[in-house]
Amino acid sequence: MPRRSSRKYLRDLALQRIKRLVMFAEQVRAVEPELADRYGELALAIARKARLHYPDFLKARVCRRCGAWLVPGVTARVRLRRRGRMKYIAVTCLKCGYVRRYPLKRQEVPPRPWYTFYRAPRVRDFAPR
Ligand SMILES: [Zn+2]
Repeated sequence: MPRRSSRKYLRDLALQRIKRLVMFAEQVRAVEPELADRYGELALAIARKARLHYPDFLKARVCRRCGAWLVPGVTARVRLRRRGRMKYIAVTCLKCGYVRRYPLKRQEVPPRPWYTFYRAPRVRDFAPR
């Protein structure tokens, strides 16, 4: 099979497009929140089409049900919750109400997609190689 049509190449291409959409969404979210949501939807659609696992930077920022751009305190509600002995971070999408739970197994270590919430993504994180 020619190299340019290999699955690896297509997935790499999809990932680049997802990164670009996430970068665009971050840039426009303050002025055009609906456009940011649309970019989120498109990024999810590309990941599904390419049959990629959603990358962590996408999961942390985009609602996996409706594609809304999640900004803690603005478009997402972030709470620490406890159910019995289990503790988790609950991130609620304020657009569709979907709740994503990140269980806290070890108390000091935040679960993986979560830590991208600690700082805003920077343009250079997504710069093409
Ligand atoms: Zn949602």
